[in-house]
Amino acid sequence: MTRPLREARVDLDAVAENIRTLRGRIGDARLMTVVKARAYGHGAVPVARAAVAAGADWLGVVDIAEALELRAAGIDAPILAWLHGPHVSFDEAIAARIDLGVHYLEQLDCVADAAGTASVQLKVDTGLGRNGAAEPDWPALFEAAAEHERTGRLRVSGLWSHLANAGEAEDRAQVAAFERAIAAALAAGLTPELLHLAATAGALRVPTARFSLVRVGIGTYGLSPFDDSSSADLGLRPALELSAGIVSVKRAAAGSGVSYGYDYRTTAETSLALVPLGYGDGIPRQASGRGEVSINGRRYRIAGRIAMDQFVVDVGDDPVALGDRAVLFGDPAIGVPSVDDWAHAADTINYEIVTRLGGRIEWTYAARD
Ligand SMILES: *Cc1c(COP(=O)(O)O)cnc(C)c1O
Repeated sequence: MTRPLREARVDLDAVAENIRTLRGRIGDARLMTVVKARAYGHGAVPVARAAVAAGADWLGVVDIAEALELRAAGIDAPILAWLHGPHVSFDEAIAARIDLGVHYLEQLDCVADAAGTASVQLKVDTGLGRNGAAEPDWPALFEAAAEHERTGRLRVSGLWSHLANAGEAEDRAQVAAFERAIAAALAAGLTPELLHLAATAGALRVPTARFSLVRVGIGTYGLSPFDDSSSADLGLRPALELSAGIVSVKRAAAGSGVSYGYDYRTTAETSLALVPLGYGDGIPRQASGRGEVSINGRRYRIAGRIAMDQFVVDVGDDPVALGDRAVLFGDPAIGVPSVDDWAHAADTINYEIVTRLGGRIEWTYAARD
């Protein structure tokens, strides 16, 4: 089979291995695999299937629409969807047995008024300053939830919050705040069995934040949430390889300007190879002149600006041919650039590099079975 011109190849075995590796590091906590935003650009349905097969207990998404897409694909595992617009209908989500993250009283009442009996996971703000009930609002929210439970309109299955990853003292303060929230929920008569605070970073480095479940996104994809540790340091394998076939190779004289603005000029007669990926496909223009690709096992820096559809690499006198693959990133263990290299080149984080991919890229899935 010929490969797509622009290919994002996802290794589902790597996803499964990462899940097993992470599972071994979280003690008794249950594992939620976070597959929001098209599984961080890896493809929600294939990753969710692989995750469930590898033993993920829960799947996590942001929107109800993302959860319904998984259900429509026949995925039966428990799913939590945690961010909702102000006037959405919850009927369809409840009918599809999707747990709902609930953040404030009006939303709770709205869920209680919906058809069916919702399974609700109450979100409290323990210091991130995003959504979730603020501490002064906890008693009213918990008492209302307990009353809705008594009248059979919903069931509170979980209580949760999210860390700001601001430092050890800040983590400790958030853990303490979450413990106050648990106590307040119990005092109101709630019995949430799923207590969760940690994402990948907390799951790996803040054992006291694990509670009964951890929500792991980035680690699933074999990427590190830490500045000071690579995937390999964590025993994780990057699951995504982005590559494209070279669409033009030509000789250029010394002193030739390359791409818009001539930010790059050749210093000797050389060959220029053209890679058909640009910012229209989610390649960060910020990495112009800094990002690297691997072609036939050698690394080359991007020459000049990344355009909407393409960028150029100066391959010198190396025998690069039409159709050879330029690998932008993949598993650095095989010598290709990493997602972290691109994040560094573009002044951003690995999360953004993989999540922003789109445009004309085709996704393919590899697994041994
Ligand atoms: C995205 C997200 C996660 C996963 O975070 P990672 O750092 O990718 O593990 C967990 N919880 C919430 C609420 C999120 O929004």
